[in-house]
Amino acid sequence: MAMERTLSIVKPDAVGRNLIGSILRKFETAGLRIAGGKLIRLTPEQAQAFYAVHKARPFFQGLCDYMCSGPIFVSVLEGDNAIAKNREVMGATDPAKAAPGTIRQEFGQDIEKNAVHGSDAPETAAVEIAFYFKPEELF
Ligand code: UDP
Ligand code: MG
Repeated sequence: MAMERTLSIVKPDAVGRNLIGSILRKFETAGLRIAGGKLIRLTPEQAQAFYAVHKARPFFQGLCDYMCSGPIFVSVLEGDNAIAKNREVMGATDPAKAAPGTIRQEFGQDIEKNAVHGSDAPETAAVEIAFYFKPEELF
């Protein structure tokens, strides 16, 4: 299997509920290594740029408002098959449909406030990592 890196975000609702450690623990338990991480707060412009792919969707404005509503914890996860493994540990977008034991099933509140973001493919992972991190911030 290929060694990969992927971008993870603990979203504002989960940071606000003191869940950063519980969520990172899920990644580490699944064999993913944290190669970099920091707490930041997005501006509206940054949130719109990060989620530009969803610009035409009805949930876009609400999503951007939510992602700016408080600090987020961004991290880079590394490991074999890290992109798919992270998505598996996260669970389905809608917490009500997420499998038992997944982050979204345990910690998500609704389809918007679903606790975490994870890159969905190698191309988006590379772009999303570069959006938040300089090469020297990753180890
Ligand atoms: N989202 C939402 N309503 C929807 C679908 C998505 O508010 O009907 C939000 C949710 O926070 C989700 C994000 O938009 O995580 C990005 O959507 P995507 O389809 O990429 O889901 P993900 O890749 O995060 O599972
Ligand atoms: Mg997505």
